[in-house]
Amino acid sequence: MSYVGRFAPSPTGPLHFGSLVAALASYLDAKAHGGVWLVRMEDIDETRCKAKFADEILQSLIVFGLRWDGEVITQTARKALYGQALGALRGRGLVYACACSRKEIADSSINGIDGSVYPGSCRDKGYAETGKALRLITNSEPIQFQDPLQGEVIQQLERDIGDFVLRRRDGLFSYQLAVVVDDAAQGVSHVVRGADLLGNTARQLYLQRLLGYPQPQYLHIPIAVNALGQKLAKQTRAKALDGANAQELLCAALDFLGQPTLPGTTSVADIIITAIKNWDRNRIPRGQTRFVPSINPL
Ligand code: GLU
Repeated sequence: MSYVGRFAPSPTGPLHFGSLVAALASYLDAKAHGGVWLVRMEDIDETRCKAKFADEILQSLIVFGLRWDGEVITQTARKALYGQALGALRGRGLVYACACSRKEIADSSINGIDGSVYPGSCRDKGYAETGKALRLITNSEPIQFQDPLQGEVIQQLERDIGDFVLRRRDGLFSYQLAVVVDDAAQGVSHVVRGADLLGNTARQLYLQRLLGYPQPQYLHIPIAVNALGQKLAKQTRAKALDGANAQELLCAALDFLGQPTLPGTTSVADIIITAIKNWDRNRIPRGQTRFVPSINPL
């Protein structure tokens, strides 16, 4: 089996401890399987992403000894591909324009796994696409997959999520569409990422099926949370990582992932080589979150 893994950060801020854990887990799982590890800049939401952060993230990966294979691809350069996939779905009558505002959706829907479940109000309206969000028609067929750490996940998209957006009203393609097109185009066989994305996977499996793409294997690792149970992220003021503490931070990330950190590993390169040798998915703690005390240097 050939293993192609990836780390797909959104460059909305510098690398923090939570994203280091995701980068490290995907890297170690790929390398322990003799695989390839790709880095993809998910800058598709141009309103939130900055080229400066993409550069900083790549610099940090180098400092932490996480060398990627091949070219780093950037989603904003790949819009034509997303447009083609959207066209294929549109051609099968699976896409429609939606004129609902956020408020209208919130007022007329129930809360689901990922916010308001869109009730399909515009499905049969036949609106022209200009200036409107484009949604994908979902159905009630259960979408099921087994995550080695999180167990079985089953969603009925129509009930749990509703018809979801493929292209936003402002013309930007959605994360769901871009990630599925890119994982397929890059031949990604294994996705190792944070459990905050677990609820998205059924939508991605559905899109893969509709587009005739292969289905990668998924592993959702626990995400690092602060004392308030909030994901470490720019919004929760997670600290940018200080490369001067790279060894200490790598050991903390390995410990977070339940992996041994053997004494005597002195350099970043040593820590990484030893971690690849020792990598054992089964040691990763189960559950969707893990508390990280907000002490220096995290
Ligand atoms: N770009 C997404 C994020 O930073 C991750 C996407 C993925 O791994 O599928 O949250």
